[in-house]
Amino acid sequence: SDYYFLHEPNPFHAPTFDVDSLRRDFPLLDERVNGHQLIWFDNAATTQKPRQVIDRLTHFYRHENSNIHRAAHELAARATDAYENARAAVARFLGAPAPEQIIFVRGATEGLNLIAQTWGRRHIREGDEILISHLEHHANIVPWQLLIAETGATLRVIPVDDTGQVRMDEFSRLLTEKTKIVAVSHVSNALGTVTPVEDIVAAAKRAGALTVVDGAQSAPHIGIDLAALAPDFFVFSGHKIYGPTGIGAVYGAADILRELPPWQGGGNMIAEVTMDHTTFQPPPARFEAGTGNIAGAVGLGAAIDYVSGIGIENIAAYEHFLLEYATAALREVPGLRLIGTAADKASVLSFVLDGYRPEQVGRALNEQGIAVRAGHHCAQPILRRFGLDATVRPSLAFYNTCAEVDRLVATLRTLR
Ligand code: PLP
Repeated sequence: SDYYFLHEPNPFHAPTFDVDSLRRDFPLLDERVNGHQLIWFDNAATTQKPRQVIDRLTHFYRHENSNIHRAAHELAARATDAYENARAAVARFLGAPAPEQIIFVRGATEGLNLIAQTWGRRHIREGDEILISHLEHHANIVPWQLLIAETGATLRVIPVDDTGQVRMDEFSRLLTEKTKIVAVSHVSNALGTVTPVEDIVAAAKRAGALTVVDGAQSAPHIGIDLAALAPDFFVFSGHKIYGPTGIGAVYGAADILRELPPWQGGGNMIAEVTMDHTTFQPPPARFEAGTGNIAGAVGLGAAIDYVSGIGIENIAAYEHFLLEYATAALREVPGLRLIGTAADKASVLSFVLDGYRPEQVGRALNEQGIAVRAGHHCAQPILRRFGLDATVRPSLAFYNTCAEVDRLVATLRTLR
């Protein structure tokens, strides 16, 4: 049985977690790859979908499909209700004060670009500084570089220590009256570091900077309470939290969203259009021009309901246990070097193996049906910080098991 917490005295004080029955919700986990039962350890790239999400998408297209907000007919009402219920589910899940603070976008990448192109273009001037960390995914680097190229502002980078944790002493030094935006990831997709985002947001706000939190890797794995964290913006991607691809959300502080100029123009975002003058909807519609991913949003709502049903705190506790188990097991593999050893980590393991290129390890694991990422993980700067251009990255979700970790480690040992 996989009731892991019943085997041993429970050092993590976590509730029992019935991973066996939860796995049955994910049809793709039954897939066989190269003659082996699939092991999906590429959850930081994207997660598999439970039937609750798959069925919700089917139900939408069979019984509710319509464009939203515009028509007087029954199906428009059903589709609009489903879409707005999903927005409310996202708001509840993140602890956002109101659903109107949730903007549906394609994902974290589009969310960060939206922020850079609206707030950034309006407020950033030559001489201003934008502060990010060395851990960032390219999605939280390149949009700021594009903004800087337009405005003449400067990018500053908070360094990390040898464990892959951001250096708060350096952060304090870099945070000045010139700092206009502080944008940091909550959990690093390359190393799994959980950053001290509460302290970063609080200090940045005291310094008068806009605070942006990239929650792409935190929302699926650790509980988020935006009412307490109170950043100006928070973004995440649906497909990393068991929802469909092509849907995600931006949370924005109410006063900031109210004054934020539109990004894309078109249908849905306007109040009135004449050939001389157009007025805009209040948030969130102002930022949802055109027909968006309606079914995707509904599917994301189902994913969030599913995760909430298990309880994000139960997920976090089980995944923490699994991460510690995997970390200990990988440390025993001769020639294996873990990259990213911060005290506070979630979900992600990154390593290199003596004598093998990461892509060779990835291929060898794939032959055994084990899916990991081997490459730069869209985070080249942080890998270079550790003198690398690639690592092997198994990343965990709550449907993974100790038995799967054992198979990973056994395969790595055969390589040695
Ligand atoms: N930020 C982080 C930390 C990520 O891990 C990712 C995806 O890997 C992104 C942003 C971008 O997410 P998406 O590709 O879903 O827009």
